[in-house]
Amino acid sequence: NRDQAPQQQADEEAFDLSLRPQFLGEYIGQSELKAELSVYIQAAQSREESLDHVLLYGPPGLGKTTLAKVIANEMQVNMQSTSGPAIEKTGDLLALLNELEAGDVLFIDEIHRLPRSVEEMLYSAMEDFYVDIIIGQDEGARALHFPLPPFTLIGATTRPGALSSPLRHRFGIMEHMRYYQVEELEEIVKRSSQVFDSEIASPASHEIALRSRGTPRIANRLFRRVRDFAQVYRDNHMIDLDITRQALTVLQVDEKGLDQLDRKILDTMIKFYQGGPVGLTTIAANLSEEATTIEDMYEPYLIQQGFIQRTPRGRVVTALAYQHLGYPYQEDE
Ligand code: ADP
Repeated sequence: NRDQAPQQQADEEAFDLSLRPQFLGEYIGQSELKAELSVYIQAAQSREESLDHVLLYGPPGLGKTTLAKVIANEMQVNMQSTSGPAIEKTGDLLALLNELEAGDVLFIDEIHRLPRSVEEMLYSAMEDFYVDIIIGQDEGARALHFPLPPFTLIGATTRPGALSSPLRHRFGIMEHMRYYQVEELEEIVKRSSQVFDSEIASPASHEIALRSRGTPRIANRLFRRVRDFAQVYRDNHMIDLDITRQALTVLQVDEKGLDQLDRKILDTMIKFYQGGPVGLTTIAANLSEEATTIEDMYEPYLIQQGFIQRTPRGRVVTALAYQHLGYPYQEDE
């Protein structure tokens, strides 16, 4: 999906947008997190206060952005959206803060990628709702004090460990987003099929759910591709299991939801490093990928599924991975 043409990506984003649940009640899965949030939201509302700052962390595609908007909707406030890399200067942040009304949500995706100076400006903004900026130089320098309305910062990140601790400590609510259960993903696929008015058989939505690596974004993407196949080969009749399997085979997503790169990671570790231990950067270099891409997007699922283990000396492939790729497994020593 990293090589998608811009048009296709734009289509997919529009599609994504129309599928986003708007309220907690429509938000599928993450039940503990929803229950907790619902308490904080109700408490803030009955005190007529802004909600405490929220940090959502977990792998991409699990619904962090969607949940931020859901929180704003539940609080009945507006949300300004941006991302860490988009805020280059303190002035960019100031412009965003300036738009906020009391209680509003400021959503910052990839918050671990904020420039240091911007991050420092956030400290006082989050803690005491003001920013001080220095204008001019030397003797002419003056500090300008900007009070801000109380607001809620919602930060999303795939790498909470990359946040500085002063920033991390300013979030009163920290929530770990988890991979979704197959039944939850099934529900998401069914919901999408309703939104798009295309009928899908239960075994077909189950199959898509099984192969979505616990991730709603992937479930929706696979659904969209399968729907294309049904459109062409079934004349847009019901999406059945058979056409679903055909489409997933073409897409090279296997029964465990692993895609080509997942399998290449395991394959490289087995073929060139006898299953490890091997360092992440070494694996990444072998595959000409960024180490962070592998660490954030691929490895968590491979670990969760029990294909890889992290050890102090590096990553190790498990017997399960050998089995899955059809290699004989030999126990060490
Ligand atoms: P993230 O910000 O974590 O990368 P997004 O919020 O962009 O993930 O979610 C990706 C897509 O998955 C969204 O378009 C949304 O339609 C769908 N999605 C995510 N979480 C849920 C959920 N809990 N219920 C239904 N759909 C979801």
